[in-house]
Amino acid sequence: MTKRSALDLIDDWLATGFKSRHGIDAEHLPAAATQPPEAESPTDSDPRLAELAAVAREVAGCARCPLSLNRTRTVPGEGSIDPPVLFVGEGPGEEEDRTGRPFVGAAGRYLDKWIAAAGLERGACFIANCVKCRPPQNREPHPDEIEACRSYLERQIAALAPRAIVCLGRISSQPLLGTSTGIGALRGKVHDWKGIPLVATYHPSAVLRDQTLRAPVWEDLKRLKGLLAHG
Ligand code: URA
Ligand code: SF4
Repeated sequence: MTKRSALDLIDDWLATGFKSRHGIDAEHLPAAATQPPEAESPTDSDPRLAELAAVAREVAGCARCPLSLNRTRTVPGEGSIDPPVLFVGEGPGEEEDRTGRPFVGAAGRYLDKWIAAAGLERGACFIANCVKCRPPQNREPHPDEIEACRSYLERQIAALAPRAIVCLGRISSQPLLGTSTGIGALRGKVHDWKGIPLVATYHPSAVLRDQTLRAPVWEDLKRLKGLLAHG
């Protein structure tokens, strides 16, 4: 896909208002990584799946921070256990809280387009958030809540060993990179998280609000494509 056609595609998506939910294919998602298994399951023989299921189970009963008080469902994350890319968002919104799945609202439908533009399939990647429970009224998660939840994300990264991590927005980028630098300065280059290349870019919700951010996001997606191709 050329630069021009991909940018045109993103313009098309903006023009159509993201009506489709294409790209979300629950049938291709490993159930044990999506939902905590009831008891023992044959998939527990894969250590990655067993660890992801253990994280999901612990998250389901977690009361480490006050976000546990208002959640409907926990949203541990979902996707392939052998993903080229782990996408990390902020935290569940209303639809995620209702369904238990990450990025299924408007921001998620837009993220699906980004994933396709990067030449990837959603079901082949893994999608998670830095907090697993919805902040009330979709406020930003507080630093102490992100810190309380951090070990779950770090265990997911260790189990998945993705070829690249993409942090969507400041809220997930800053704690992983251990910085208070703004997202505008963090994006545009490849960082390193314990040996894994990490690309920081804007959050899909921010780009839906401000279309001038589309061009830098496309630059970041090309950077991601490049490092997957050569990396
Ligand atoms: N949905 C998510 O799962 N995470 C976000 O950051 C935004 C929407
Ligand atoms: Fe536990 Fe994370 Fe939910 Fe807080 S946000 S209650 S730390 S799972």
